[in-house]
Amino acid sequence: MKRSLKPGRVFLFRLPFGSDLLDEIHEFLKKRRVRCGTVEAIGALSKATIGYYELKRRRYRQKTFRGEMELLSCAGNVSMKDGRPFAHLHAVLSDTKMRAFGGHVFPGSKVFAAEVCVRELKGAAMVRKPDPETGLVLWPRKP
Ligand code: ZN
Repeated sequence: MKRSLKPGRVFLFRLPFGSDLLDEIHEFLKKRRVRCGTVEAIGALSKATIGYYELKRRRYRQKTFRGEMELLSCAGNVSMKDGRPFAHLHAVLSDTKMRAFGGHVFPGSKVFAAEVCVRELKGAAMVRKPDPETGLVLWPRKP
């Protein structure tokens, strides 16, 4: 389903030291009532829990990394899931040898520093629903 949305509020903020990257962004979205939009963030993490969707088994695989990591790029979107704003985020990180790796962001990523930009989109918010084809909770393709 294609939607025509209009730009809304734009927020620029920093996450607290030691906070959880995903939980803190969810809190912000809830507090500011952002139902639809995009998210981007850069910074550094001391722990990262990221993963990928195993297509054949239809389940997420998670891995936790500890140490000094740059949050090179975290990008994602905001839509509604189970009646609440839901941030779907992916992250590219780098380690102390400047090697990059990344994946789908799960709770369990500890912020050292993070600068976030949330761009709200106004209009009928996208709503996530279970998708039998993929086993994921996705946006509908048809109205
Ligand atoms: Zn994902």
